[in-house]
Amino acid sequence: MAGEPQADCLFCKIVKGEVPATVVRETGTTVAFRDINPQAPVHCLVIPKVHYPDAASLAAAEPQIAADVLREAGEVALQENGDKGFRIVFNTGAGAGQTVFHAHAHILGGRGFNWPPG
Ligand code: 5GP
Repeated sequence: MAGEPQADCLFCKIVKGEVPATVVRETGTTVAFRDINPQAPVHCLVIPKVHYPDAASLAAAEPQIAADVLREAGEVALQENGDKGFRIVFNTGAGAGQTVFHAHAHILGGRGFNWPPG
């Protein structure tokens, strides 16, 4: 069923505590943890506890939980990066660089960023 945990999903395993992660925040609907391969001094991921393959499918099916992810992205940035600027990234699809197919927001901060992104 849509949103149900997937046995072969890494981030579902992090939600269940089966794979360890450095959790920085948790709510009833989301978990935020440090990225294992940080691309900036601050690099955290915010994921919904429900399983959807990407942010677009999450927003279509569960708009309130998608809003929770976005709100938590701001809270993580404030907690980890203070009032400095930060970037939120939702890689969506393999062609855009998505490698884990459970919706997640990257929160990046602590350095400057270029535009357009690579
Ligand atoms: P994507 O490429 O799908 O947008 O982002 C997936 C992110 O998950 C990558 O930045 C990658 O470093 C991170 N990642 C992959 N495996 C693990 C893991 O086991 N633990 C944590 N904390 N992050 C992971």
